[in-house]
Amino acid sequence: MKRRLQSIYWRGILITLVMAAIAIGGMVKLKADDTLSNLNAVLHAASLWTLESNADLQQMADSIAAVSQPVQVTFLMDTGLVLADSRKDADRSQDHYQDAEMIAARQGKIGRAFRLSTADATFVLYLAKRVSPQLILRVSYPVLEIVDLLVIYGISLLTLFLMLYFLQRKAVSRFAQEQVQQMEEVRRLLDGEVANAQAVFPEFQPTLHAIAYRVERLQADHKEIMRTLNLRSDFVANASHELRSPLTSIRGFAEMLQTGMADTPEEQALCATLICSECDRMLAVIEDILRLSKAERQPDRAPQTVDVAQIAHEICRSLAKRAEQKKIALCVDGALSLTAQEKDVWEILYNLLDNAIRYGREGGHVNIRLSPHQMIVADDGIGISPEHLPHIFEQFYRADDARDTETVGTGLGLSIVKALVERCHGQIRAESELGKGSRFIIDFTGEAA
Ligand code: ADP
Repeated sequence: MKRRLQSIYWRGILITLVMAAIAIGGMVKLKADDTLSNLNAVLHAASLWTLESNADLQQMADSIAAVSQPVQVTFLMDTGLVLADSRKDADRSQDHYQDAEMIAARQGKIGRAFRLSTADATFVLYLAKRVSPQLILRVSYPVLEIVDLLVIYGISLLTLFLMLYFLQRKAVSRFAQEQVQQMEEVRRLLDGEVANAQAVFPEFQPTLHAIAYRVERLQADHKEIMRTLNLRSDFVANASHELRSPLTSIRGFAEMLQTGMADTPEEQALCATLICSECDRMLAVIEDILRLSKAERQPDRAPQTVDVAQIAHEICRSLAKRAEQKKIALCVDGALSLTAQEKDVWEILYNLLDNAIRYGREGGHVNIRLSPHQMIVADDGIGISPEHLPHIFEQFYRADDARDTETVGTGLGLSIVKALVERCHGQIRAESELGKGSRFIIDFTGEAA
């Protein structure tokens, strides 16, 4: 980039110098034009005077030159021979027949020429006019000595060049440095250091803010994608494990039957029963995986107004038998109206009540308390220990180690509930005390409630 800037800068200097040269050339031309008109006047006056005067040609040349210094006056034969010259040191032997001003003068015009005089290295302007049949009057004026011209050109251009060089060098190197700083800032931003993004050039500030905003969004998206990928791979590992355990058991029991290890009819019946129950377990896992996958998708139907109390009563009726077996009293109080999928609300409440009965104590209570924007399912069952409580919404998480194996579930129920609650624009949390019971509290935002 610095090289590019330098090339722009050198081009700038070149253009400026060319323009300066043209300007100086223009000034020289102006001076030449001015000289030409003066010289014309001198020629005109001198030719008139020559016609009227009886003086000797040398005298006339000297007199005319004396009043129009530094004009040089020459009388020539139309053959180019010098007859008289106001400059004493002039080379009179030189033949001027072919000089441009002489050719024009011989043709009756006013001859004009501008050329370098070889005698004294000076640019000279010549004007010539025929004043009698054989006599030509020539006046000449040294416009600028060539050395003067070169000095003026040289000094002006050199001064200009030096000025431009030092001024622009400083400006360009500062600009290049600022550009590097700006690029460094952008690189820092792209590396993810979005805090306090400052533009070196104020015009870049909005662009920098836009980049910072996009980088932040990308970072957030990246984090979310990584989280999802991790969840997915955890899920695959857990699901495989959950399915492999019953499959291994099934294979073992089948082998016992195949090899005749289970040889009595009772043992064979037991193997078949265990195979069936492991199959049921696998089916339950697969069904829960499907339910979870459905719950994590966007609903395909528009939400509707749902009377939660009515659904809670229906679920209580359908679970009444199981509750009765454990002598658990089910109770619903309050009211809540939600804008959601009725199926989702049904499933949320069913799962929570099912758990509450499963982990409830004999002769205990399960209460569903409804209020605007909130729904609580509370039981006085076995409770959850503080080390398990933060993980119960994780997929395949079970806090059943020290519990009766009959209560073992798939560990997906609460993950499904959480996904459905989020789909209803709510948030779920749990409070529990081991041995005293649990409370599952769902808060709905105003939007869904
Ligand atoms: P599961 O299918 O094993 O019940 P969940 O995801 O529904 O899976 O529950 C996860 C864990 O949370 C359960 O293993 C259980 O230990 C605990 N849990 C859930 N609900 C209750 C409750 N009402 N009382 C006590 N423990 C509960």
